[in-house]
This record gives sequence, C-alpha cells and structure tokens, in this order.
Amino acid sequence: KNSREKKMKFDRYFLMDEAAVKAYILEKTDCFTDKELTVSEIGDGNLNYVFRISDGETSVIVKHSGHTARISDEFILSTDRTIREGRLLQAHGRYVPDFVPAIYLIDETMKCVIMEDLSNYEILRTALQQNQIYPHLGQLLGHYLAETLIRTSDFILPPKEKKMLQKEMINPELCEITEGLVYTEPFYDNFSRNELSPELAEYVEQYIYNDAALKRSAAEAKLKFLNKAESLIHGDLHSGSVFVNAEGIKVIDPEFGFFGPAGYDVGNVIAHLLFAYAYAETKGQKEQMAWLEKTIEEVMKTFRSSALIILQNETRDIALNDESIFAAFISEIEKDAYMVAGLEIIRRIVGMAKVSDITLLEETRVRTEIQLLSFARYLIQHPDKIRIYPSLFAIYQNS
Ligand code: ADP
Ligand code: MG
Ligand code: MG
Ligand code: MG
Repeated sequence: KNSREKKMKFDRYFLMDEAAVKAYILEKTDCFTDKELTVSEIGDGNLNYVFRISDGETSVIVKHSGHTARISDEFILSTDRTIREGRLLQAHGRYVPDFVPAIYLIDETMKCVIMEDLSNYEILRTALQQNQIYPHLGQLLGHYLAETLIRTSDFILPPKEKKMLQKEMINPELCEITEGLVYTEPFYDNFSRNELSPELAEYVEQYIYNDAALKRSAAEAKLKFLNKAESLIHGDLHSGSVFVNAEGIKVIDPEFGFFGPAGYDVGNVIAHLLFAYAYAETKGQKEQMAWLEKTIEEVMKTFRSSALIILQNETRDIALNDESIFAAFISEIEKDAYMVAGLEIIRRIVGMAKVSDITLLEETRVRTEIQLLSFARYLIQHPDKIRIYPSLFAIYQNS
C-alpha cells in the first residue's frame, strides 16, 4: 500500500479503480473493519462500473459512474446518473422494500452507490437460458409493477409531492438515448448503423423501414413517451435488470428511470419474457415454454388486480375516485404496454443493442427474428385487440 493511497480523502470526484474503491470503502464507510479486503470489478453492462468488496464473510456492491460510458468514450454522460438511480431505488423501495437491493450509502461527491450484494440471486436472463422455472415469477413481477407504477401515479402521490419527485428524477440525457434507440433508429435505418444479417435486412427493409402505417403508430407511441409523466418508471426493465432466486426477485439498474408512461415498464417485461420464450423454443425447453406462457399472463393479471386494489383503497382525490376511471386508466396502461412490447422487440432485433436470447441462436435465428418482428408489428398496430384474445401466444404462434 503506497502512501498516496492512504492520503486519499475522497472529497473530489475521480473515476475509481479497484485499489481506489478499496481505500474508499475503508476511509469513508464502516462497512468493514478488517483491511483484508478483496475488490473486483464485476460490471457487465454498457454504462457503469460495479465493484464487489468482500472480507471473505460479508460483502457489498459499489456502483460507480464515469463521465463516459463503460463501453465507449463516445457516449458522454453525467456522473449524476448513479445518484439518481440510488434515489429511485429508494423511492421504489418505500413500496416494495423486498424487491430492490438495500441502499447503504449514496455518495454525491464520488458519484457512487453502496448497496446490498445480491450474489445469492441469479440474473433472470441467464437463469431462463439455463431452463430454470420460478413458479411465482409472474405474480412477483406483476406485484412489483403495480406497486411501483400505481403508487407513484397522481391517484396516490399527493400532487406537490409528485411534482417535487418528478423534478428530482428528471433524466434528459438517458431519456434521449431511449427516444432514439427505441422509438426512432429501428425505423429509419439509423444512418445505416442498424446491424442486420443479409436475410433479415430484406424483411426489415420491406416491413419496417417501408411501412408508413407502422412508423406512424411508433411515432404516436413516441409522443406518449415524451409527454406522459404518469408514474416513476424503471426505464430499463429487461431480464438483465432482474435478479431472481427461489425466494423472490430484486430489481436493479433503474438509471433510465423518470416520470414516464407506466406501460413502458410493463411492456419491457412482456418483451423480454417473449425473448426467453423464443430461446426456450429453439432449445426445446418444452416445460419451460408452457410456464413462460403462463407467466406472461400472470404478469398482466396480477398487474391488473393489484393495480385495482391499490386504486380502490388509496385514491385520495375525490374527483379521481371512480371505478370507471380506474378501469380506463388500467386499460390504457395495458394498451401502452403491448405497444411498447412490440417496440422493444423491434429495437432489440433491428437496433444496435441486441439481447443474447437472440444472438445466441444459430440456424433458427433468422426464422425466430422474423416471427418476433411480425408479432411486434401486430402489437404496435393492434394493442387493443390483444386483450380480447385468450392468449397473446395464439397470435405469436400465427405470426
Ligand atoms: P449497468 O448500469 O452498467 O448495466 P448494472 O446495475 O446492470 O450496471 O450491473 C451490472 C452487473 O453487475 C449486473 O448484471 C450484475 O451482474 C452485477 N450487479 C449489479 N448490482 C449488483 C448487486 N447489487 N449485487 C450483485 N451483483 C450486482
Ligand atoms: Mg444493467
Ligand atoms: Mg451470481
Ligand atoms: Mg444501467
């Protein structure tokens, strides 16, 4: 240990490496007394650094952001994103403490969050690829979505409190990324930056780039994303942001969160369960396929019933306390969710940020991509019709 390290005060931001994080945790926290710590950077995302600090018995996680994205210096982002993420986890944690990691410290100077180590959980995407089944997953996700989205809506949050939180959670930089990546680039060839195999390119050319009606529907959805400050959303709720084990789920990484359309989170959950289904189908994981099908239905059913209970029991504003308003509100979120599910499927197949559920496929990849894309087109253009079918899988299978 050199003397420079000992003298560090951590009163001015710099991008910490493993050695600095070790000195930091001893200097600034009482997480550990023992100095025999191991620190390793375990991040696998595109944007940030994630360190695990352990003394062999207990461990914590430090999430830390740089001025640029982890994957590329081209993306310049405010280091405050990690502070906002920590606060958002705390805000959601008021309603679902068991569904988010415990937050131990938010350090505005060093731009990092110290949180619970979830090493006894698995990342949902990985677990699903390994043919795991979690009987209660649909209910857990539906409950999480209803609690976080409905309790942060105008039905429940007092008006001034909502606006103050909205101000704190304003997220222009990361919203701009979503607005481009999800709502524009997949439909406009992203200056030829969309990554497509030659076989797929033909389909995309005809049925995405050249479909004016589809692009119009996507534009309508984009206006909702830009204007609908409905609920405090997670903003990046794919299966890499959900930890799971037999006990439950923990949701991490809400750095794209802000007050946006509630259906955005619901739709992302549906889309990524569908990617898991497509992967399971290729691998012949039959039992898991049937369970995933049930799980998607369970998410939607639990979301609807939990949302309704919260609205009925907790709506304060007499002008909004009306059964038909509740029903219309929930139906509108469902409709938004199906549209977003379609948009998310398209952007993950056509756009630059792919998912391993698709990229790991081999001979079946193009066929799967085309089936998912044609289902996505249906979702975007007929989100209303989905609800009258017994199962959205009937439509998926015929796509
Ligand atoms: P990014 O914003 O860069 O995507 P994430 O928050 O998704 O970062 O974290 C990246 C990875 O770090 C996760 O996929 C997971 O493997 C690990 N990780 C993040 N938070 C925790 C945690 N609280 N406990 C254990 N591992 C974590
Ligand atoms: Mg992540
Ligand atoms: Mg693990
Ligand atoms: Mg992230």
